[in-house]
Amino acid sequence: MNKKGIGTISVQGGYTPKNGEPRQVPIVQSTTFKYDLADDMGALFDLEAAGYFYTRLQNPTNDSVAAKICELEGGSAAMLTSSGQTANFFAIFNIAGCGDHVVCSTSIYGGTYNLFAVTLKRMGIDFTFVDPDADEEEISAAFKPNTKAMFGETIANPALSVLDIEKFAKIAHVHGVPLIIDNTFPTPINCRPIEWGADIVTHSTTKYMDGHGVAVGGAIIDSGKFDWNRYAEKFPGLTTPDESYHGVTYTKAFGLEGAYITKATAQLMRDLGAIQAPQNAFYLNMGLESLHVRMPRHCQNAQLVAEFLSEHPKVKEVTYCGLKSDKYYELGQKYLPNGSCGVVSFELEGGKEVAKLFMEALKIAAIETHVADARSCVLNPASTTHRQMNDEELRSAGIAPGLVRLSCGLEDSQDLIDDIAQALEKC
Ligand SMILES: *Cc1c(COP(=O)(O)O)cnc(C)c1O
Repeated sequence: MNKKGIGTISVQGGYTPKNGEPRQVPIVQSTTFKYDLADDMGALFDLEAAGYFYTRLQNPTNDSVAAKICELEGGSAAMLTSSGQTANFFAIFNIAGCGDHVVCSTSIYGGTYNLFAVTLKRMGIDFTFVDPDADEEEISAAFKPNTKAMFGETIANPALSVLDIEKFAKIAHVHGVPLIIDNTFPTPINCRPIEWGADIVTHSTTKYMDGHGVAVGGAIIDSGKFDWNRYAEKFPGLTTPDESYHGVTYTKAFGLEGAYITKATAQLMRDLGAIQAPQNAFYLNMGLESLHVRMPRHCQNAQLVAEFLSEHPKVKEVTYCGLKSDKYYELGQKYLPNGSCGVVSFELEGGKEVAKLFMEALKIAAIETHVADARSCVLNPASTTHRQMNDEELRSAGIAPGLVRLSCGLEDSQDLIDDIAQALEKC
């Protein structure tokens, strides 16, 4: 059979029941797994055999769903995490520790910025934030001998800038480090960063992958393409024996395809325990089954809403890469030819106070700290998700005080537009 289409993978990937087995991915609601022989379990502990012994390390439900996401992204191995925050934390911490350095785009999610600039900094990992639109030379200047990774978001939340992934991948590879891309907003339906040179992809599955506002979760996907052995001295955790795991060398035992995810599971999940509950993985899978059908509708609604807003006199500026006037239109056409996401941001004349009046007057879109849901929702980042940033930091992340982030759901586009029109009249 030829390579399966993205829709077939969304529906059926990751789980193939045998004769008489459940058609739907079973929720394996068990912390532990039974063995007849002590040595059978011993082999699992030594990572000599594949199998399950304790759900903190691996669970069949989670593995099925991770395998689907892996196939969607075109990766070699993947794992689920308890949240998107954990996914980005593990993705970095798996290859960088105290005394190391990471180069990161300024245009990223506020929670990720805080994780990197505050919490990981306290753990001894330094970040240099670079303007993603700067030229190669300027970005290259941020690299140091102890740089271990480069990080960016395909479509930044909430700035909605589109990352030039090929440019970032080229710079990362010249400096011998992997490029990690948070692909939460476009999902693999609209962009597969590995095809553009990214080495590791992360997700907040809480967003479109779940898509129904049901369960917080995350995922990490490895391309299996980064050659850890070539830069062995930079990544000793992958290329030298792990004494905490009976001297296993991950690249030797699991190859380039499996080393990174096995290490993250065996060390980070073992020690930090941020697993996704199997029940939540089941909900996530329900979302994934319709991801390829939902994404085009989110994009269509967002495109029509963005066009309406861009012609409205009370709207100062609309950011949506599907608009020809948008700064990221060209990059969007290149990386997101079938649509970007359902999130539109815009600045109202009058700033934060007017933004609040507008949001409170909406009847369909609700005020929520959320995006990428079937139900439309709206937020003023400056007064909520990004309130820890000062004005200068907000500006460099591309966020104006009066910016409204509107996540277009799956409702009828005309109803969304009518609702926005009446709310704009009231503010
Ligand atoms: C929401 C989000 C996160 C954090 O994910 P959680 O599941 O809320 O922990 C990370 N990156 C991006 C781009 C996000 O939108």
